[in-house]
Amino acid sequence: MIHEIIPVGMLQCNCSLFGEETTGEALVIDPGDQIDDILRALAKHRLRLKAIVITHAHIDHIGGAAKLKSATGAPVYMNAQDQDLYDHLGAQAGWLGVPEPESTEIDAPADEGGAILLGETPFHILHTPGHTQGSISLWIPAENKLIAGDTLFRDSIGRTDLPGGDSRQILRSIHSKLFTLPEAAVVVPGHGPNTTIGREKERNPFLRRI
Ligand SMILES: [Zn+2]
Repeated sequence: MIHEIIPVGMLQCNCSLFGEETTGEALVIDPGDQIDDILRALAKHRLRLKAIVITHAHIDHIGGAAKLKSATGAPVYMNAQDQDLYDHLGAQAGWLGVPEPESTEIDAPADEGGAILLGETPFHILHTPGHTQGSISLWIPAENKLIAGDTLFRDSIGRTDLPGGDSRQILRSIHSKLFTLPEAAVVVPGHGPNTTIGREKERNPFLRRI
């Protein structure tokens, strides 16, 4: 499986591109910005975009979704509990002092227990609210990888002081949905370097059990 992490935009959101060599299909997760770079990476690997998946509706993760969808025709998956945040993309742009990007219809829900298939490989959807109410993580057992959005970072967790944030809920999400995954699972956070579940259990100052 091809996996490229492309940090995009002013806040360097980790956009993930996964490609299945046998079928030539791809998934793009969190196309926040720099859609031309994402399109170039798809072309380089000769991949056809099957779906766009949004871990949560903050502008740095979803800002380029409309542009990527119109360039490829791929449907956009997002948890419906973040629709209200997406409806306020203009306000989010205002917080960052950037122009409001175009927005699009969400085509399919990303709900707990669901999965998106890339070839025969399931990307399992885990609803992990706390950073936002509609935050999801994607667990790919075949790759032993977790796409964590802004829920879990190396040595940190997502901020909960923005609208829709809940500090107790994010801890519950991490302990109940993410820390039950294998210790060796690689975590690809929404920003910054990769880590593993085992490392964060042991060293993350927000999560160590005292
Ligand atoms: Zn965020």
